[in-house]
Amino acid sequence: MGKINIAIDGHSSCGKSTIARALADKLGYFYVDSGAMYRAITLYAIQNDLVEFEKVKELDLLNNLSKIQVGFGMVEGVQHTFLNGVDVELEIRSLEVSMYVSQVAKIAIVRRYLVKQQQKLSKGKGVVMDGRDIGTVVLPRAKVKFYITADVDIRAKRRYDEMMKNGFTSVSLEEIKNNIEERDFLDSHRKVSPLMMANDAIHIDTSDLTHEEQLNRTYAEVEKVLNAK
Ligand code: C5P
Repeated sequence: MGKINIAIDGHSSCGKSTIARALADKLGYFYVDSGAMYRAITLYAIQNDLVEFEKVKELDLLNNLSKIQVGFGMVEGVQHTFLNGVDVELEIRSLEVSMYVSQVAKIAIVRRYLVKQQQKLSKGKGVVMDGRDIGTVVLPRAKVKFYITADVDIRAKRRYDEMMKNGFTSVSLEEIKNNIEERDFLDSHRKVSPLMMANDAIHIDTSDLTHEEQLNRTYAEVEKVLNAK
């Protein structure tokens, strides 16, 4: 079989993006971090005063949507996210962006705008895309779909370690856990494209799996499909 598309969905910080990047590397596929696209739009809202009293000003954001270009590019061998041509890979991972992103992601017009771009990126196949609605909405015909879960305390600790490594040292483990739980709730309960497992997705709990085991498990599933006649 030629190149295929692979969809990976799951809650915040469950390990999806680590798996997606590793699979894309191993297969020579293109990785699309759809969460980074929602984060970049959120960063735009914060930078342009489209957030007030802890609320995103939805109408103002929608009026600005056509001015927001989100893309990906390689920086020293690592894929980074660009917002209107500026590398924002680090900024989009801040707790401030995490606090507002689910508000942005529940806006139907924002979703339509990004889903269209995500589908365009995967037209030629050979894409590994991770997010919340990839197997259900963005790539319903993806040949392999994974639904990743992990214990919330483990997810919070992983995210905390990652943030410390990236220099966001003023945040606490508790703040991160609260944010993860809040996003889990908002992402699973919103009206438009809530997070859910696609009927044909393979469920993997990464709580007790090393990165290597996660890659081996997922790669084995992909190989089965690629080797099928
Ligand atoms: O994957 P990540 O945690 O970076 O995603 C950030 C946020 O973007 C999620 O909490 C969710 O609100 C939103 N998102 C989404 N649909 C996707 C990817 C991310 O709603 N496909």
